[in-house]
Amino acid sequence: MNQEELEDWALDLHEPRFRGRQIYKWIYAKNTNSFYEMSDIPRELRIKLDDIAQISIPRVLKQKVSADGTRKFLMELEDKKRIETVLIPQSKDKNTRYTICISSQVGCPIQCEFCATGQTGFQRNLQAFEIVGQVLGSSRELMRRLKSGDYGLITNIVYMGMGEPMLNYDEVLKSIYILNNPKGVNIGQRRMTISTAGEVSGIEKLAQENLQVNLAVSLHAADDKLRSSLMPINNKYSLPQLVAAVESYIKKTNRKVTFEYLLLGEINMRPVDAENLIRLLKSQLVTVNLIPYNKINEAAFSAPGNAKVRMFYDKLVHGGLNVTVRQEHGSDIDAACGQLAAQKSSRF
Ligand code: SAH
Repeated sequence: MNQEELEDWALDLHEPRFRGRQIYKWIYAKNTNSFYEMSDIPRELRIKLDDIAQISIPRVLKQKVSADGTRKFLMELEDKKRIETVLIPQSKDKNTRYTICISSQVGCPIQCEFCATGQTGFQRNLQAFEIVGQVLGSSRELMRRLKSGDYGLITNIVYMGMGEPMLNYDEVLKSIYILNNPKGVNIGQRRMTISTAGEVSGIEKLAQENLQVNLAVSLHAADDKLRSSLMPINNKYSLPQLVAAVESYIKKTNRKVTFEYLLLGEINMRPVDAENLIRLLKSQLVTVNLIPYNKINEAAFSAPGNAKVRMFYDKLVHGGLNVTVRQEHGSDIDAACGQLAAQKSSRF
């Protein structure tokens, strides 16, 4: 529930509105998952709340820590379905803050050829409480592990875990508002990024929201034939449709957009791919984020070596694009981009 819903709920229980605000603060700012700990609420009411309601945070079943400090959590939902959430340290510093990579669906219906999540199939959308719960649950676990009393260890959020956020639009939006609320988790909108495989309807809706969140679009190929062979969603929305949607998004919001471009050795890094990409994006106010392919099981793709990445990067820069290369995190624990599959815990 967001703050307003909790206030309405308090009224339903014949309590004053501010009780809803108190509960909001306990759950979202103080990361409490027990009504009994809400010490400014009368005891009888706490007992009643515990009787009729539940604070449901996904349970951390397992956690793996990478050599680079990245942590992957296997989380279990009420219906026993499992998702993965990744915490990425922002520096090597001991007191570093973290970026959290959260899931929006159990599995994914988009079925990109190179991504482990799609290969597990699609099970269901997450509800807003399960999306927000990944942040609350991870934060609590992180504080416990690091023996820290700091509620603000997580400062950035990327909707880049399992699933396609734009196919779960309403719940994702609700989670953004809750996570952003200064009276609760308080993470700035500019510190949040939604990544989409190119679901144009979602990009169009997001343009109307008046939000400050960042948009990233998984492009991965700059011609329709190649993109369709890698990402079936390209048969639903062609490249010209996708690029036009992004263009009007930028016009409407005046926000920068990032195009993610996966680097698949021998597939989409030829000179002609660089030329196509430059032609497609040159006139736009966008950044291209190159993501060297991370290995997943049974996949037919190969990761490009550093020299090839550098060559492709140089070509794009030379062609006038803004380019960055994504630093890989957590591939030793299968926590890097594309590797989230929420395997059975015995194999986690
Ligand atoms: N469904 C959304 C959110 C997932 S974001 C989207 O597609 O954007 C995860 C990012 O990792 C996407 O850009 C995705 O294309 C990329 N990715 C998928 N498989 C990968 C792999 N094996 N190696 C590197 N990146 C991968």
